[in-house]
Amino acid sequence: MPSLQDKVVIITGASSGIGEETAKELSSKGAKLVLAARREERLQELKDKINQGGGEATYKATDVTSHEEMEKLAEHAIDEFGQIDALVNNAGLMPLSLLNKQKVDEWDKMIDVNIRGVLYGINAVLPHMRERKQGHIINLSSVAGHVVFPGSAVYSATKFAVRAITDGLRMEESKNSNIRATIISPGAVSTELTSTITDEDLKSGVDDLYDMAIQPDSIARTIRFALEEPAEVTINEIVVRPTEQE
Ligand code: NDP
Repeated sequence: MPSLQDKVVIITGASSGIGEETAKELSSKGAKLVLAARREERLQELKDKINQGGGEATYKATDVTSHEEMEKLAEHAIDEFGQIDALVNNAGLMPLSLLNKQKVDEWDKMIDVNIRGVLYGINAVLPHMRERKQGHIINLSSVAGHVVFPGSAVYSATKFAVRAITDGLRMEESKNSNIRATIISPGAVSTELTSTITDEDLKSGVDDLYDMAIQPDSIARTIRFALEEPAEVTINEIVVRPTEQE
């Protein structure tokens, strides 16, 4: 996808942080955007901003943990713009906690959003992309998808899973349908991501790490770079972190 002009890109988790910045970045290069998240008013605001700036965006309130809603999101993209060129599976949660805190509900939520959400996204766009014999799926993993630290066991498990799923997708689809699959693995980025952490014992360590956090526009540019490479080039994975982060 050498030029993003008129390319149709679905972005999940577009209501804040990396997703929102990615929408602005891709729109500045002419992409047509389909914004998804649960907070509709935020999506409406972003859509208005993009459209007022001369870009093209639509949105659909979507919970990525619902298989049906993800199917409807893909249908919405095709109804509005006629095709889907790329999907950025960006929605994610990071309520870090020590296992002995037994925050089972938080484990379930992370598994639902970070793993099921990504799979439902792939499922929703794959038939369309296979039919067109083109498409690009970008999944957000993390530095925590490479290393585990106390408190990240479940979050890291979900992000290791995202890498496994993306690589499997790439190997299955690259030869048969030219579909590209890319993993983006950020380090600490300044967004709302840490706001769901309820384990008080981890807060100060996380705050220390996030003191060095980089801005989400760095990740947005990285995603744009992966998308803009020519169709015969697949960027398998990019790890982007603050220079100071080990
Ligand atoms: P934010 O918290 O700012 O954004 C998360 C987004 O996910 C929001 O737009 C939120 O929207 C959406 N989301 C959460 N749950 C759901 C759901 N059930 N259905 C639909 N959308 C949902 O964090 P980031 O921008 O930082 O996170 C983006 C991705 O980057 C995540 O996958 C995260 O794991 C990954 N990442 C982030 C890092 C960081 O340091 N910030 C580091 C490494 C990876 P809404 O609430 O409106 O539904």
